[in-house]
Amino acid sequence: GSLFSRLAKTRSGLTEGLGDLFLGKKQIDDDLIEELETRLIMADVGQATTAALIDELTDEVSRKHVNDPEHLFETLYRLMVERLEAVQPTEPPARRQSGRPHVMVVCGINGGGKTTSIGKLAHRFKAGGRDVTLAAADTFRAAAVEQLISWGERNDVRVIGEPGRGDPASVAFDAVSSAKARNSDLLIVDTAGRLHTQSGLMDELGKLIRVISKAEPEAPDEVLLVIDASIGQNALVQARQFNQAVKLTGLIVTKLDGTAKGGIVFAIADELGLPIHFIGVGEKAEDLRPFEPRAFVDALLD
Ligand code: GDP
Repeated sequence: GSLFSRLAKTRSGLTEGLGDLFLGKKQIDDDLIEELETRLIMADVGQATTAALIDELTDEVSRKHVNDPEHLFETLYRLMVERLEAVQPTEPPARRQSGRPHVMVVCGINGGGKTTSIGKLAHRFKAGGRDVTLAAADTFRAAAVEQLISWGERNDVRVIGEPGRGDPASVAFDAVSSAKARNSDLLIVDTAGRLHTQSGLMDELGKLIRVISKAEPEAPDEVLLVIDASIGQNALVQARQFNQAVKLTGLIVTKLDGTAKGGIVFAIADELGLPIHFIGVGEKAEDLRPFEPRAFVDALLD
């Protein structure tokens, strides 16, 4: 399907060697293992996760006295899927809670695809029959507010907030009250993502979350970080920083259509233990997919 064709560029990043790597080989030797290690690093799987994968692979090879490259490939596939499945949520997210909307806060650095991802989420849940409310609390960028309003108009979804309104916390507070009054199923809150004054950004995000909790003690239900897969290991650094400042519940990984490196999801799953809820594979409303470990590893290794 189109996931795979969209992920094709990601796939070629790994296959650019991986397929070929295994194809011509008759046996497992040090060269093959070394080459595999290099390719995993190149695909942004990260040093630590690559080392762990290679360790597990070589263990298996010596323990079972395997000499068949195909068996090595299958083992790699299994280990990669297991790593991702270990952190995936079992509950479907974004269901209405008892007597109140499910509240999702979405954060991330400017340019990563945060506002677009919120628009795509609104489109998705609205199409699934949910009543969705959006909060335009990225008040530092008038363009972000306008962008969200335009996503709302296109998908017939309500947006709380307007250009020129200064205080993100008050927008979020109003949005929670409004979503409750209307019996919305889902409230999605956009947040500011300026790159400079990083600590100011984190303080403000913390404040926003506290204000939401004042309006609804059980909320937010989810705090999702949007990260751009094409920035490589920096994505891991960002995820670490956000996770220290606010307790993240999961990730949306964007721009997987535009990168040859999707391996960063393994590093994030391994180090932070955070599930990936959705992946972005293009700019259009439909280009957001639930993250499926098997499909993802298939696309990477096929
Ligand atoms: P924000 O600053 O984090 O809110 O980022 P935006 O949502 O404004 O997105 C920045 C740019 O990235 C826009 O041009 C989006 O269309 C684009 N974008 C977002 N997600 C994806 C994706 O999954 N794939 C591609 N190719 N582009 C994306």
